[in-house]
Amino acid sequence: MGKMQNLNRRGFLRSSLLGTAGALIGTEAIGSSIRNIKKEPLIIRRKLGKTGVEIPIVSFGVMRSDNTTLVKAAMDMGFVHFDTAHGYQEGRNETMLGELFKTVPRSSFVLATKVAPDDIDRRTGEMGPGATKESILAKFDLSMQRLQLEYVDILYLHAVSARKVALAPQFLEALSELKKQGKVKFVGMSTHQNEADVIQAAIDSNFYDVVLTAINFKHSQAELLKEKIALAAEKGIGIVAMKTMAGAFMDKERQQPINCSAALKWVLQDTNITTAIPAILTYDQMIQNFSVMENLELNEQEKADLEEAKLVAGLYCDGCKLCVQECKKHLPVNEYMRAYMYTYGYRNYENAYAVLDTIAETSDPCRDCDACTVKCPKGFHVAERIGDVSRLSDIPRDLMV
Ligand code: SF4
Ligand code: SF4
Repeated sequence: MGKMQNLNRRGFLRSSLLGTAGALIGTEAIGSSIRNIKKEPLIIRRKLGKTGVEIPIVSFGVMRSDNTTLVKAAMDMGFVHFDTAHGYQEGRNETMLGELFKTVPRSSFVLATKVAPDDIDRRTGEMGPGATKESILAKFDLSMQRLQLEYVDILYLHAVSARKVALAPQFLEALSELKKQGKVKFVGMSTHQNEADVIQAAIDSNFYDVVLTAINFKHSQAELLKEKIALAAEKGIGIVAMKTMAGAFMDKERQQPINCSAALKWVLQDTNITTAIPAILTYDQMIQNFSVMENLELNEQEKADLEEAKLVAGLYCDGCKLCVQECKKHLPVNEYMRAYMYTYGYRNYENAYAVLDTIAETSDPCRDCDACTVKCPKGFHVAERIGDVSRLSDIPRDLMV
């Protein structure tokens, strides 16, 4: 970890415990020791496509962080790009960032947020009457109130899984209008299903500046994705990576963690990828991810850890959807598997509930099926996992979230 050990970790932890006054003192203490790191010339930075923005290769996925002290410490350490979304923590995530960002110069951070279109069938990409330009604009307006900013650097259309959604005229119009108004500098899409098609749509559109895509060493279409990423980068589209930790654990009991530094390095060794946005919840995660910014070389142990992790089924479902056709009931097995990963890998019950909310069948739909016909290429026992995760629907969410 080298220079990072110079950080006043005890001061940081104390600040977390002392509340507001203590937090300010702690942040200053961290700031003074972190400033040396900020000048560190070895942080690898890359250009975000043709946007002209240059950022460190590791960014801060704010998603589940509710702690301005942690985010401020990250800024002092050298993190520049922060990623949130309209829906994270039911809006509290953007509000928290807004409180912090009003205290720092606008030029000291690059902010991305996301707005999900309404009324879209996740399974088919079919859009209903609610999938309008107006709904995008209204959500964005609320995001800006929470963020208390004049503009965001990147606005993504959130969770796009079909070409027709990526190219829907009403969404392009909404994004285009916000860009013309100066409320959004660059427009993009995020995708964690059918990513290759969505990236190809971004390339064909001549519209999108940035794509935020899932990619990791356990993704079954990693090679195809890397080809598409290369094509997009050639066209000047900035590529941001997510889901880099492939579920974070190999087992539901969380006894076998994935080597997250190695997984992050594996993604960032592709120079067509500008940066990655791993979710950061703790000071230790922040330090660990920061260390990757200096050196992307995988040591022998890290290589071995990734090879070992590739051999087990793990928790990461990359949404290939082969299972949907094979299931006798045509269940959205991929969606259940995503909820399973959020539940057992990331302990992110909010996202798990959000996925389960989109599925009509809530209690275990496999219980009356005599034999499972699904053969997941990753080796998931999908019926067992559906049984496990669908139980979440029976637990009042205020007990979990
Ligand atoms: S459960 Fe398996 S077959 Fe289904 S989408 Fe996930 S990886 Fe593909
Ligand atoms: S056990 Fe469940 S997932 Fe498997 S075929 Fe039956 S309904 Fe589909």
